[in-house]
Amino acid sequence: MKKYDYLIVGAGLFGAIFAYEAKKKNKKCLVIDKRAHIAGNIYTENIEGINVHKYGAHIFHTSNKEVWEFINKFAEFNNYINSPVARYKDELYNMPFNMNTFNKLWGVKTPKEAKEKIEKEKAEAKVEEPKNLEEQAISLVRKNNI
Ligand SMILES: Cc1cc2nc3c(=O)[nH]c(=O)nc-3n(C[C@H](O)[C@H](O)[C@H](O)COP(=O)(O)OP(=O)(O)OC[C@H]3O[C@@H](n4cnc5c(N)ncnc54)[C@H](O)[C@@H]3O)c2cc1C
Repeated sequence: MKKYDYLIVGAGLFGAIFAYEAKKKNKKCLVIDKRAHIAGNIYTENIEGINVHKYGAHIFHTSNKEVWEFINKFAEFNNYINSPVARYKDELYNMPFNMNTFNKLWGVKTPKEAKEKIEKEKAEAKVEEPKNLEEQAISLVRKNNI
């Protein structure tokens, strides 16, 4: 007699959701994981009342309404906006670049002024086709000694 319809290796998001959906279709699943916990890479440990991401911080994001509605059945989400800053020589800069960054770098106040400044910097740095973001960033900020 068949004990399980599916053996699912890994209790991360994929394995867990697969098992959940299969069970709804009356399939019997065995989920195994080599780690001592479920949730895979999104696992959190509760340390002094704070959920700490064991394998690195995770922010859930989707533009898919169906996915958003599905996932909200299982957990309550905070509204979190990622707004990292880079610290360089005791100054803080918004990353990725935005108007605050450009204002701090060059004193520009409007997107038009920022665009003109970027174009000027690009022309002076003679960067026609930056090969990557690093090359682009270096070419843009080198004049400012950052
Ligand atoms: C540091 C970090 C930050 C991330 N940040 C984000 C983010 O902000 N937003 C986002 O959407 N995604 C993020 N991700 C990606 C997200 O973690 C993954 O997309 C998602 O967790 C993948 O789920 P999964 O079930 O496919 O795999 P996993 O979560 O990796 O789960 C796989 C499971 O399978 C188990 N397993 C593997 N091989 C075996 C085996 N042979 N035998 C038994 N068990 C096995 C593993 O132990 C693991 O528990 C991040 C990933 C990392 C590492």
